[in-house]
Amino acid sequence: MIANNPLDTLRTVFGYRTFRPFQEEIVTRLIGGGDAFVLMPTGGGKSLCYQIPAIHRPGVGIVVSPLISLMKDQVDTLRENGVAAAAYNSAMGEREARQVLARLHAGELDLLYVAPERLMTDAFLERLREIPVALFAIDEAHCVSQWGHDFRPEYVGLGRLRGLFPGVPVIALTATADVQTRSDIIDRLGLRDAQVYVTGFDRPNIRYTVVDKQKPFHQLLAFLGNRPQDAGIVYALSRKRVEEVAGKLRDAGIEAAAYHAGLADGERGRVQEAFLRDDVRVVVATVAFGMGIDKPNVRFVVHYDLPKNIESYYQETGRAGRDGLPAEALLLFGYGDIAVSRSLIESGNNPEQVRIELHKLNAMVGFAEAGTCRREALLGYFGERLAEPCGNCDLCLDPPESFDATEDARKALSCVYRVGQRFGMGHVIDVLRGSKNERIQQLGHDRLSTYGIGADRSAEAWGSIIRQLIHRGYLEQDLANYSVLKLTPAARPLLRGEVSLTLAKPRVKVAPVKKEPKR
Ligand code: ADP
Ligand code: ZN
Repeated sequence: MIANNPLDTLRTVFGYRTFRPFQEEIVTRLIGGGDAFVLMPTGGGKSLCYQIPAIHRPGVGIVVSPLISLMKDQVDTLRENGVAAAAYNSAMGEREARQVLARLHAGELDLLYVAPERLMTDAFLERLREIPVALFAIDEAHCVSQWGHDFRPEYVGLGRLRGLFPGVPVIALTATADVQTRSDIIDRLGLRDAQVYVTGFDRPNIRYTVVDKQKPFHQLLAFLGNRPQDAGIVYALSRKRVEEVAGKLRDAGIEAAAYHAGLADGERGRVQEAFLRDDVRVVVATVAFGMGIDKPNVRFVVHYDLPKNIESYYQETGRAGRDGLPAEALLLFGYGDIAVSRSLIESGNNPEQVRIELHKLNAMVGFAEAGTCRREALLGYFGERLAEPCGNCDLCLDPPESFDATEDARKALSCVYRVGQRFGMGHVIDVLRGSKNERIQQLGHDRLSTYGIGADRSAEAWGSIIRQLIHRGYLEQDLANYSVLKLTPAARPLLRGEVSLTLAKPRVKVAPVKKEPKR
């Protein structure tokens, strides 16, 4: 095929007017013979990044792809655009396979899609060494890394390509990779001086908000009450919780349906249909809901429980606002949830996997606790940088005020000490506020010197202060032991009055539900 420059090819072959961000840079880099790593969300436009250079460089572009069905779609689309493309895989008959190989040797192909196990056979590699190869494109490159979520042993062999074909550029592409996965992919594929391109993850119309989980169902009701016309999804961790929340919403007069993998296929299909047709306003669901849901006007996604990693959070919140209109992502963030997720992960029996998942959970917690722009934190996780804070997240719209918390911190820390470092947050707060509950009296905690010294503040405010003390490293929660609060060595200078401390002012971010006036 005769091509002048990449932009011409984009227009004449593919029929698009302009490149999307980074597409042109990537194309230019490959045409020049350099390696590249591309991280772009699904639908971001990764294919053109190797298709255009394959057309421009002499020889055939070899595309490694794990799914035969996807190969077929790509090849069909390319052929419609007049590009000489073919697939070589186990789904085709012998005659067809021979034809493809003949075209390959005759230099007739611009692009050949091949499964990794096919490509890495000695016979096939020998063939490739006899003909000019334009480039290697490794699609779904995260499959090469155990840090990714879809490790495929047959991808590991691809690491040999770089050494076998020193003159051929290699491009790795994926829609999902955190920083560790990314460097692991680059290492394993042996990319040379790989230029890394990350783009397209931002969903500017989604407003991210994280609130302290206090009375989650009331918080959810208040949220739904503020947008009575909008449809959305509420994600919860377990089937049981899904059923419970959906039931309570219906009792409160909200059209809600439950969706999880424990329901019969028919019921799941029915819920999905009803949601698409706007017959159901709210779907309360486990992570099972969402694959293949293409509803453009999902106005909100609420996380009732903490997602297990940022990848899931990004994917699930991404189901909101596909129509480009303003949409909300609300996360109810409770410390108890961390313990639950942690013990779920730790019950796994692959130590390496446990280590990776705990690391990812920590990153998720870090996001929820972030003190700066949520979008910066979220995109930063994928390695994409924002030029400035986004102006459309809770922290940008309402930056936390700070206050001198030295005195409050001292009260909270001494109270933790006085109860013997043997109680969780709820009890410590009760003691601080001088609650008259039975447990306190039985334990004699109403006779402690710290009993009631924090009566001037609400339980929510103390919760916020104590969580910040945990986050800042003055307290730790023994997650293996009922989340008991303990002092860390850093608490000592604060208790002795040697240092002072500034914290974010506690605030209740979701207004409590107003009671309906009696008639
Ligand atoms: P990915 O592989 O990243 O999931 P694709 O390469 O399949 O995404 O592209 C997704 C869609 O975007 C396709 O329909 C593609 O034709 C379209 N697309 C890609 N680049 C451009 C562009 N520069 N201008 C317009 N449409 C584009
Ligand atoms: Zn922001």
